[in-house]
Amino acid sequence: MEYEAVIGLEVHAELLTRSKMFCSCPVVDLTEAEPNTAVCEVCAGMPGTLPVVNRRAVEYALRVALALECHIARESVFARKNYFYPDLPKGYQISQYELPLATGGRLPIRTSHGERSVRIRRVHLEEDTGKLTHVEGPEGPYSLVDLNRAGVPLLEIVSEPDMHTVEEVRAYGRGLRQLLRYLGVNTGDMQKGLLRFEANVSVRPKGSQELGTRVEIKNLNSFKALEEAVAFEIRRQIRVLEAGGRIEQETLGWDEARRVTVSQRGKEEAHDYRYFPEPDLPPLVVDDDWLEQVRAEMPELPWEKFRRFQEVYGLPEYETALLTADRPVADYFEVAVQAARKHGVREPLRVAHWMTGELFRLLNQRGLSIEEAPVPPEELAALLGFLQRGDINKNTAQRVLAEMFETGQRAQSIIEARGLRQVSDESRIHQWVEEVLQAHPDEVAKYVKGKEGVANWLFGQVMRKARGQANPQVVRKILMERLQALRRDQANA
Ligand code: ADP
Ligand code: MG
Ligand code: ZN
Repeated sequence: MEYEAVIGLEVHAELLTRSKMFCSCPVVDLTEAEPNTAVCEVCAGMPGTLPVVNRRAVEYALRVALALECHIARESVFARKNYFYPDLPKGYQISQYELPLATGGRLPIRTSHGERSVRIRRVHLEEDTGKLTHVEGPEGPYSLVDLNRAGVPLLEIVSEPDMHTVEEVRAYGRGLRQLLRYLGVNTGDMQKGLLRFEANVSVRPKGSQELGTRVEIKNLNSFKALEEAVAFEIRRQIRVLEAGGRIEQETLGWDEARRVTVSQRGKEEAHDYRYFPEPDLPPLVVDDDWLEQVRAEMPELPWEKFRRFQEVYGLPEYETALLTADRPVADYFEVAVQAARKHGVREPLRVAHWMTGELFRLLNQRGLSIEEAPVPPEELAALLGFLQRGDINKNTAQRVLAEMFETGQRAQSIIEARGLRQVSDESRIHQWVEEVLQAHPDEVAKYVKGKEGVANWLFGQVMRKARGQANPQVVRKILMERLQALRRDQANA
């Protein structure tokens, strides 16, 4: 029997607001701030305190919902999700439950099978919990609690069970991360837990319309973990079914070291959260004006930029994907293309290749982002102008770019200061060619007698004489003209 995997993802994204979801505590970097220094009565859950909704957080959520083409609820409701755990000082988490902010959207994805979209079930707002650190002490294990994260705005994005392969999971995961970064609402940092994925996985006989029993995999803090865990779980479930067994509905964790899923809790231990509407918050109302205002601030979306780059710049899919992966990269490219045009460089693909090749290599070597590039786009364009006009050749251009990177100097300064300008001047090149021919009469004689290969050797000698700075096309042209002339003279003699 053939099986088909069915996968749905739940994604939690911390929103990049300055303050928390329901109080004015700052949102701090957990790896930098002293633990428990960004906490107040409200997020610590003191009796008698009242939450107030963070307007910015709602706007960020609306950006995501609009981008995903969701239906946006004009009135949504916060609820209390009750459970006891040391990272939850209030004893409940405020989250949207029955009436979420947005429902029913879609995220376009691109795989080797082309384009399709994954349906979005819901997008809702909630608050993050504190962070526990478990320590193995000499007298036994204990846990540390940091409430700096308690109450940080969190967006949950839940897909329909619409994915069937690891490749689709990867495309969805990366696509959603890209979107959140484009919208400026999340950094996409999975290592720090600012973006967290949970995968729901089941399998069923191919062709069947019913859903199989699913498991939920938590603790996936990289795309590698997400993909490996899903792949592992699909294989495991198929093996269980083929052996005549049944899948238990349970919550699993991913053991990074052993690369297996491990049981965390079964269905019997499922929580009863006793949800009820948060009595301290009114329904969240989103009116037309507010929605229009958010819509007006929406940037170009990743898939829109992708299409535009293909149409306007005529770039192939591979380069387009690289250059639109991040907004700052795309912005750099567009500025560089504009500037390059002024320098006579008319093919955007040229700029694309220099960016995705040389520039990315230099950035990677030094672990820099495009925003930190010591070479601004206008200067990359200027360099390509020198190359285009034949002032320098490709090798020299690569060396100059590396030096621009190193010193922050302009292309022109480096080329002039170091006398790197390529010589295309025919009379200079004629002179070099003559000198080389005179210095090597034996080789010239061999060529004249029909040994073609000698021409390449002589070419090398001319380039050496020119310290690599002669325009190679011009050198070859003039050298061949001279050699052929010598051959003719010999034949006529
Ligand atoms: P819960 O909130 O208890 O986790 P949901 O019904 O909201 O349950 O589903 C959560 C996620 O699980 C969604 O992304 C959904 O697409 C996915 N899902 C639901 N049923 C299945 C299934 N049988 N196989 C795979 N994924 C599923
Ligand atoms: Mg779930
Ligand atoms: Zn607070």
